[in-house]
Amino acid sequence: FCLMAYRGRFAPSPSGPLHAGSLVAAVASYADALAHRGQWLVRMEDVDEGRSIPGAADAILKTLECHGFQWHGDVLFQSTRKDRYREVINTLINDDQAYRCACTRKQIQAAGHEGIEGIIYPGTCRQGLPSGQSGKAVRLRTDDRKICFQDRICGTHCQVLSKDIGDFIIQRADGYTAYQLAVVIDDADQGINQVVRGKDLLLSTPRQIRLQEHLGFPRPEYAHVPLLLDEQGRKLSKQDKARPLLDRNPLPALLSAWQYLGQVPPPEAPANQAAFWNWAKTHWDIARVPME
Ligand code: GLU
Repeated sequence: FCLMAYRGRFAPSPSGPLHAGSLVAAVASYADALAHRGQWLVRMEDVDEGRSIPGAADAILKTLECHGFQWHGDVLFQSTRKDRYREVINTLINDDQAYRCACTRKQIQAAGHEGIEGIIYPGTCRQGLPSGQSGKAVRLRTDDRKICFQDRICGTHCQVLSKDIGDFIIQRADGYTAYQLAVVIDDADQGINQVVRGKDLLLSTPRQIRLQEHLGFPRPEYAHVPLLLDEQGRKLSKQDKARPLLDRNPLPALLSAWQYLGQVPPPEAPANQAAFWNWAKTHWDIARVPME
């Protein structure tokens, strides 16, 4: 951290209000940035406009504010970035790193086999589209090189993309840029060098590293924090209508996120949000974050 100023971010999707699960990731990334005297940005990942809920972005920002988060600069909305995404997708296609795909989900399911995160694309359109067909979806060409990274919490993680994941979507059939690509372009363009986020994205990281390499972007450091699970052991998600946070009573939620992250609690209840973050800034210890 000595040479390069720390720049982290929180990147919620406005598919619903912030809940206790998203707060855990937000607290971890903000505390890590504070502890490194770094900058911390907020990016609204509304690239999938079909899943965005009107008013959710404002509600998330208000909840963050009520919980005492202070972000650097303006919030970047992915929905304003389509031209930039299109430019990168065209570059990848022109360099033959990516190709158009016209396959339906049914065709892929029938011909593909199971990878570590869904079906591996059988490669049908790798050598070009069947004549007469047009494809709006775009896939990245993967190979059998082993991609490894050292997660600050989870340790070494490796994947061979061609075997584990397969050629993956960077532009969806509905025309929207896929999360995997949008996140890589935005992290690079915003100068993010530290990513602290939920562990549900650990398996996405090698795909993102691959894209960074293709595009000549620097690789940030990664830390994936454990996910808050419901009673059935499933990830809390906005789609499940996980209970939204109460803006008028932020301290209990901050303290339970802090405790969930394995951190030493303040000796007495902090008087307000600022007091909580002051404690967090001086006591955050990523080594205490549990791996599960
Ligand atoms: N937008 C993603 C989410 O809400 C997080 C993306 C990231 O942190 O890389 O799950």
